This record gives sequence, structure tokens and C-alpha cells, in this order.
Amino acid sequence: MVLLGAIAVGVQNSAKRDGALHEFDWGNRYQAGPGASGVLNRVNVVVPYDADAQRFSYYTGGQSWGTAEPSAAPTRVIAEASDGAVTVRLRAFDAERRERADADAQEIARMISLATTQVWPSRPIPVQVDVHVMADDAPFSLAKRVDWEEGDAYAIAVFMRDRGFSLTTPAHELYHALAGRWSLGNKDPANRARPKAARAYEEATADLFVQCGQLLATGSLSRDTGDDKLVIDDERFEGELDAEELGRALELLSREMTGAEEIGPWLSRTVVADVLGEQSSVLLESPQGERLIARCREVAANPMLLAFRLAEMQRTSRAQAAEPRALDD
Ligand SMILES: [Zn+2]
Repeated sequence: MVLLGAIAVGVQNSAKRDGALHEFDWGNRYQAGPGASGVLNRVNVVVPYDADAQRFSYYTGGQSWGTAEPSAAPTRVIAEASDGAVTVRLRAFDAERRERADADAQEIARMISLATTQVWPSRPIPVQVDVHVMADDAPFSLAKRVDWEEGDAYAIAVFMRDRGFSLTTPAHELYHALAGRWSLGNKDPANRARPKAARAYEEATADLFVQCGQLLATGSLSRDTGDDKLVIDDERFEGELDAEELGRALELLSREMTGAEEIGPWLSRTVVADVLGEQSSVLLESPQGERLIARCREVAANPMLLAFRLAEMQRTSRAQAAEPRALDD
């Protein structure tokens, strides 16, 4: 009861401190192209967490390119769902009304509720997600500023196309906001000297946070081998990384090589592959499922630990790969 009271107050307070969505210039800091369905969602921390005042500020929103007339954000709520301390609203224009809107809002709320309570920070935290369903061809660049204070809900605004709708994007962006609150990864002043590595490890961790949320919500997780390619300094990376590729990736990250900050998704795939071994999917109620959750918990609390874990994986898989060769000789 005490908890519910605190959450209700938090939601009320945060409504006052969430700015409205407006056109926003995300700048050219990122070289990454658009993500799934041509949309890039982002969370940018603009005022770091102040431990004395217990507050920080961030922008949450998204961007998509195109030559058509730029679109504003839809405001009409077509579905709303809650799970624990998490509220999710789907907003759309008339033409983007989705048949699955209620089920989608419910699934997003459940996944975030499970990820926050069972992965990290391992307790209920108030979260308010607005998912904006955009027309398939409309370019946009939108954000709102959130001046978060202790007790407020974490407000997340994400943008998606009807085509290529992703249930996992809100949880991924939420992790970046939480990284701001706890000064982790790219938001940790201690990592200022290695911003590219910090970004890559934070991205990989946001993916793992989502994948463990999915595993908890659905009871199983299918392996995403991925067929996208990344080239950094003439080195080519594709799908899951083997021991040799992982070694090169870690080397590029340790040298803060330009482009290395993009390798997060390849790293998270490699972590999942290491837990799954030869299996194509994993069940929550299995030793591998427990191992994956444990790993997600560990890195969510400190993304930079991934550097050690990945180096460990590289040594282990190298040792395993060497064994059959030794027998052949
Ligand atoms: Zn991200």
C-alpha cells in the first residue's frame, strides 16, 4: 500500500516536469544509420545525476529521415496498459490505428515490469512509456525534456512505424535513462576517457536488459544470430563473434577506435551465444536461462564489466577451439 501511494505521487509530480514533445535537433554526433523500420530512438542525458539534489535531466525521443513533409507526434491514445508500477500508452493518428494495440501495450508494460523488478534495479520503479505510431513515410525529429527528481516516474517517449513495430524498443531506451540515473556506462564520469567503449558496453547492456526482459515475460528466448555487418578500421564484423573476432573487437574498443562505439549489438549477441552454446533458444526454467538472467543482472548494474566478461569468454572459447586441433596433430 505504501508503495502504491509513493508511485501515485511520483506519476503526479513527473507530469509537471515532463516537457511536451517538440521538434528537436539530435545533432550529428552519431554516425549510425536508422535502426529497425528506419527509426532511431534515443535518450540523451543533458544534466548528469546530482546525488545531493537527487535529480538529472534527459531528452527522450526519436528521429527518422525522409523527404516527405516532417510529421508532428500523434497525441490520440489508442491503447493504455499497466503492469505493477509501469504504464504504457500507445498514441497514433487515425490511419495508424493498430488491431493489436491493447495486446502490444500490455506486453510492453509486462516486459518492463519484469526487467526492472527481476533484472535491475531489482525493485519496482515507476515508468511511463509513450509509444508513438508514425506514418510509414514521414520523417521526424522529436523529443521531450524530462527533469527527473527522486520519486518521479521515468518517462520514455519512443517512435515506431506500424511496419516493423518493436515491442522491445521501450525497455531498451529505458535502460539508457536508468544508466543516467545511476551514472553508468557512458554516463559515468569515470569513463570520460573511453567514451566509445563506454557507449558500446552500454548499448550491449541495454540489449541484454531487453533480452532478459523477453525471457522473463515469455518464458523463452530465441537466438538472434543477426546478419548485419559492421566495418571498423577495415575489420569486418557479422552476426555472433567468434573468439578471434571478439579479440579484435575488444582490441578496437581498448584503442577507442572510431566506429567501435557501434559494436554493442554484436557484443550482446555474443554474450547470449556464449550462454546458449549450440542451442537455438533458451527456456527461462533451465540452467542456461538462469545463467543468462544472472549475467544480465550483473552487467545491468555495471556495463563496463562486459569488458572483463567478454575477455573471459574469448579465452575460454579459444581454449575449447584449440583442443580438437591438438588431437588431430
Ligand atoms: Zn541504445
